[in-house]
Formats: sequence, structure tokens, C-alpha cells
Amino acid sequence: MDFPYFRYSQYLIEKYGEKVYKIPINIPSYCPNRDGTKGYGGCIFCAEDGSGHENMAQHIDIAVQYDAMKQILQKKYRVQKYIAFLQSFSNTYLPFDDFKKYLTQMAKLKDCVGIAISTRPDCIEERHLDFLTTLKAQYGLDISVEIGLQSANDETLCILNRGHTTEDVVQSARKIKAAGLELCLHVIVNLPWDSNEDVIKTGKMITALRADSAKIHTLYVAKGTVLEKMYHEKTLKMLSLEETITRTILLLEYIDPTVAMQRIVSRVTEEKSVFCNWNQSWRKVLMQIEEQMRCEGTRQGRCLTKI
Ligand code: SF4
Repeated sequence: MDFPYFRYSQYLIEKYGEKVYKIPINIPSYCPNRDGTKGYGGCIFCAEDGSGHENMAQHIDIAVQYDAMKQILQKKYRVQKYIAFLQSFSNTYLPFDDFKKYLTQMAKLKDCVGIAISTRPDCIEERHLDFLTTLKAQYGLDISVEIGLQSANDETLCILNRGHTTEDVVQSARKIKAAGLELCLHVIVNLPWDSNEDVIKTGKMITALRADSAKIHTLYVAKGTVLEKMYHEKTLKMLSLEETITRTILLLEYIDPTVAMQRIVSRVTEEKSVFCNWNQSWRKVLMQIEEQMRCEGTRQGRCLTKI
């Protein structure tokens, strides 16, 4: 089937010649936006587990976490290659020696062809990039750094209590690319404080920063967050599904077609959220986006020719 956007699964097949799956690994990292280093309270949408819903406990050995998931994936999808993925919290925010130790353990995992590290844009130093560049060369791995842009509107970032600016994202993205590492940018498409112009700006930023891949999240309300409080107090006005589909298509139209889309709709379990995807499965929402794109005859990057 022809998809109106560049799927990450396709990107991986083209790169490795076969299916590759990401395996989440949890290490003892934390977040500087919670402990006072950058801010207190964390981002208003972020749950206690640092947005790592699929993770095992931090104290479990990396190889044990990896092998457990590998077995499941091998059985279910007959996959042979994997990317070890540090998802929760800010994974460059831990003592540097510990960071090096955990990353070296991950580089040695059997059948692991790549490592993905999720972190904050203001939390990556030259020493992290130097170490990752060396690790990449030493083990012949692809290394991707995932950072949260969320919105190209600084006022929205302030409301989200992100504790960083869009300029921080620009600076860290440039350094990641200059180091020869892959860049993945995360954004939230249906932030009620953003306008359609902000969404276009966000798409253009993803393109201009030469991201290799991107994740589009639909805003959901996780339990125990500031957002949940706002939701119950009715100070949060969620966009409708129709508005969100329109915005997602708009965003995709400004993202270069070579940027692999790792995600287009959020996935979170019912027990962890009070609102997610308008009570529909993420697959159903995704299908509606695809269907509308086909109906409109549009696709990822369509509007870039107009810039
Ligand atoms: S989203 Fe990231 S930066 Fe924000 S509170 Fe969660 S772990 Fe910290």
C-alpha cells in the first residue's frame, strides 16, 4: 500500500534490509526539570514514570530487559535485529561515568544494530556527543538522539513548563547532526495553545534542522499530571479529533519527505490516562489521518515546494 508519509518501519527496512524493532531499556536516569536543576514539577503532561510507559524497572539489568523483550519480538514478528532505546526521563542526566557504563553495555548487546537515546535539548554536552561518536565507530552502531521540541512556539513551551526554549532545540540539534549522529525530534500536534501557524513553523523546524526521523504525539492526559488537574478543573480545552487530524496533516505537509515518521498518534494505556485519542484506538485515529490525506491527495512535504 502507498502511504502518504514516510514510515519509520520502511526506513529501517531500507537501511538494514530487514525488519528492525526498538526495545525500551530503563536506566537510573532522572529529569532536571523535576529536581530543581532546570525547574520543578516537570512538564505539565509528563507522568511519574517520565513518559516511559512500556518500560521495566530501572534496577533490572540491561541485558535482562533486552533479552526479555527480544524473545517476545522474535516469537511474534520473527525479528532478528534491534535498536536499544532509552526512553524514560532525560537519559544524559546521570553521572557521566554511569552514562558511559550503561551505553557501553548496550553497545555490546547481541543483535543490537543501533541505540536511541531520549533526552532534553538542554541536557547534552560535548562530552556526551564525543563519547557517542566514539562508541558508534567502535561498535559499528547507528546512534540516534531523540529530543523534545514539542512546539515551535516559545510561549507554549512556557505553558508546558518545559524549562527550555526553541533556541535550545536548534543549538542541540545542530550539535547532534555535526557529530554525525542521527536526530529524532518529538512534537505534540494538538496543543491547544498553538495556532495552525505554529504547527507550520514546527514542521518547517523539523525540516530545517535536518531531522532523520520525528515522532508526532497527540496530546493525552496522563494520570497524576498537572494536565490532569487542568482537565478536571476544565481549564484545558482539548482540540477535537477533526481539528487534530487537520493539524496533523498540516504538520506533515511541512515535514521533508525524507524524515522518517516514527509515530503519528500517541499510544498510552487506558489505565494510565484520563483522556487519550478521543476514546479510540491509536490505529483507528491513524487510519483516519491516512484516509483523509488520500482523499485530499496530499502527502508529507507537499507544502515545502511553496516555501
Ligand atoms: S517530559 Fe522529559 S523533561 Fe519533561 S518532565 Fe518528563 S522527563 Fe522531564
